[in-house]
Amino acid sequence: MKILVINCGSSSLKFQLIDAVSEELIAKGLCERIGIDGSRLVYTPAGGEKQIKSVEMKDHTQAIGAMLEALTCEKTGVVKSLDEIGAVGHRIVHGGDKFASSTIINDEVISAIESCNELAPLHNPANLLGIAACKEHMPGTPMVAVFDTAFHQTMPEEAYLYGIPYEYYKKYRIRRYGFHGTSHSFVSARTAEVLGENYENLKIIVCHLGNGASISAVKNGKCIDTSMGLTPLEGLIMGTRSGDIDPAIMEFLAHKEKMGVEEIMDILNKKSGVLGVSDGFSSDFRDIEDAFEAGNEDCVRALKTFAHRVVKYIGAYTAEMGGVDAISFTAGVGENSPILRRMICAYLDIELNEEENIKRGEDVVISVPGSTTKVLVIPTNEELAIARETLALVK
Ligand code: AMP
Repeated sequence: MKILVINCGSSSLKFQLIDAVSEELIAKGLCERIGIDGSRLVYTPAGGEKQIKSVEMKDHTQAIGAMLEALTCEKTGVVKSLDEIGAVGHRIVHGGDKFASSTIINDEVISAIESCNELAPLHNPANLLGIAACKEHMPGTPMVAVFDTAFHQTMPEEAYLYGIPYEYYKKYRIRRYGFHGTSHSFVSARTAEVLGENYENLKIIVCHLGNGASISAVKNGKCIDTSMGLTPLEGLIMGTRSGDIDPAIMEFLAHKEKMGVEEIMDILNKKSGVLGVSDGFSSDFRDIEDAFEAGNEDCVRALKTFAHRVVKYIGAYTAEMGGVDAISFTAGVGENSPILRRMICAYLDIELNEEENIKRGEDVVISVPGSTTKVLVIPTNEELAIARETLALVK
């Protein structure tokens, strides 16, 4: 069965068509600048040339239309008709505590996702636009919602509650939810496979280090803690996001710089992280690393601070799980940065096999043979994970 995986943002839409049985990619693409002048479609059939086309996309319905046209195009399309697409899997950012697993989309599910909008005001409404647009173009095709938060729903109360009046949890559901769940689930399960061990017997820490970064503790196949919280701002230092800070810094800055909450939130979301710590050098880890290697002080400071925070969480999660069998690195930075993995493992006193550490794009164990804690690099594949979930539900 061919499954269309859709990741819909407010002005962009990423898609992949995947053969869910062979798990091969059939085509992928991106609709950019939806609702903005200069919208365009980027489309690549597997094994074919990347095409970039200016297409008018006033809204998500037009964007989905353009995507479907590309997929069914006589010359460069990959399916003859839309009937060949068996199901659509949608990435949904926030399922609150309503969804502990993926689900077939119906009107009730749409309302439940809507009720989580205030927890992810930038993402959920856009995800819902994608669902509505697909429904319009492919009314008979089953659709599945796969939530970024679902994998973390197994966290115990003591891990997801904040130390604030319980009343706010009861009133507003203020708690830790966690994100990147599809990636944490995919990578932790794959870690067990690569090690040839039973997933249910392992204590795994997954470090999803990308522009957005989060870390999770997966014990016996279940997530027991994760670093992102009510929103994706908490936890690790990221490209532009601060991660954990003393909440009193907000009040301090408000007085000193005469700023309002919105402005401070903007700084914490967009001007902090390695961008902020490097004194504005870059939010892109490639730039930071190149300058780090050249001895740039701002970037040495930024990378060290980033690595320190990762190590702190690894320590906390090792304690929470009563040990750790494997630490897996994934996402843009986790998969591609031997330097950062080296820095983090040096802290942990885990010896790396440098020949393996410099490999790219494959599942690999990078700790030396016999290491008590195994360290791995596992390329994440959220689209494939969504396709698998979708197949499992529609089969
Ligand atoms: P993601 O959010 O997972 O797409 O990751 C994006 C981040 O990965 C960006 O900061 C990139 O600079 C970083 N990244 C990609 N390739 C490399 C690389 N070769 N070395 C270091 N960082 C990289």
